[in-house]
Amino acid sequence: MKISTTVSSIPTSPTLAVTSKAKALKAQGKNVIGFGAGEPDFDTPEHIKQAAIRALENGFTKYTPVGGMVELKDAIVYRTSEDYGIEITPENVVVSCGAKHSLFNLLLTILSPGDEVICPSPYWVSYPPIIRIAGAVPVIIDTTENNMRLEAAQLKESITKRTRAIIINSPCNPTGTTYTRKELEKIAEVCLENDLMIISDDIYHKIVYSGSEFSSIATLSRELTERTFIIQGVSKTYAMTGWRIGYCIGNAEVISAMTRLQSQSTSNPTSFAQAASIEALKGPQDTVEDMRKTFEKRKAIMVSMLSDIPGFELIEPQGTFYCFPSVKAHLDRFKTTSGLADFLLEKALVAVVPGEGFGSPDHIRLSFALHDENIVDGLNRIKQALS
Ligand code: PMP
Ligand code: GLU
Repeated sequence: MKISTTVSSIPTSPTLAVTSKAKALKAQGKNVIGFGAGEPDFDTPEHIKQAAIRALENGFTKYTPVGGMVELKDAIVYRTSEDYGIEITPENVVVSCGAKHSLFNLLLTILSPGDEVICPSPYWVSYPPIIRIAGAVPVIIDTTENNMRLEAAQLKESITKRTRAIIINSPCNPTGTTYTRKELEKIAEVCLENDLMIISDDIYHKIVYSGSEFSSIATLSRELTERTFIIQGVSKTYAMTGWRIGYCIGNAEVISAMTRLQSQSTSNPTSFAQAASIEALKGPQDTVEDMRKTFEKRKAIMVSMLSDIPGFELIEPQGTFYCFPSVKAHLDRFKTTSGLADFLLEKALVAVVPGEGFGSPDHIRLSFALHDENIVDGLNRIKQALS
């Protein structure tokens, strides 16, 4: 059968591919240690699960409004005020089936064929494919030589007449780079001068380590709030990746157009997952900090052990649950990071994500969403296999 030119040109998400490969080997009884998964290993907190159970028991099993229930939008307005200190209204919110879906709807709504979108690399694997699906062009700015941080001057050089938007992801998947308010102010200045829309993917905003602080470009001024689209969701903050609830906050006219697009594809996000998300956003928040603290301890183990593996060079992550070391010293032997990842899976039964999909052919990504003892065992296996 003939596959469309659009779909023929996009790869499978490499993060999901590695995760499913590791799961398949585990199912065969192999003792695989998975550093692939981009999801918290914790269970969804009990009070959130109970809210979904109550919703089901009360028969909350029908369609809801396309862009999300009124009560969920109110909860998002509340959480945004708490976390960002900005005041929005329900008209600024559309809820979708995960933050990836929110981003998909947003890019399809704001981009026309030939438009350019700036993506600092390393970037999250799904940005360029979604931009291409929208018929637009991802313009990649490599920040590898600049400590994985985008500078305003670099941004300025990459802007053309066709540039419409930039994607900022801080804390960044895969690098952990977390921009300071000062850095964002400089980037914002260039965006304002060039009338760019800003997409701020803030999905890791609660996973930030001591010494760093989360800032969002959306909060810098009223003008910036108005031209920024915040991508958020419950996946990472509340360990709810399987529930598939994400949302976008931004200009009411664009939000309404996104809702129209969604009305012709998925309709509403799942009813009882929305009920659970209300509890997540408005209920007790102590589990969020508990998870962050656990990730911070694991990060310390990762940083110390990775720096002990010959040929691995790491910039310490300031947020997220990923490390993204350069493995350039091993590429004479393995040619590509995919080659290295295949070797590690076969020889050491350790799953890592190759850097190519992140626009970074010299790095690999290791998620530390796994128990301390598995981290230690897995990193020892890598060290041994490469020695
Ligand atoms: N943005 C980034 C940077 C991510 O890492 C992810 C991965 N989960 C998402 C968006 C999408 O999250 P979800 O669809 O699970 O809400
Ligand atoms: N965002 C996660 C990751 O980067 C989940 C996988 C995905 O959505 O691609 O691994």
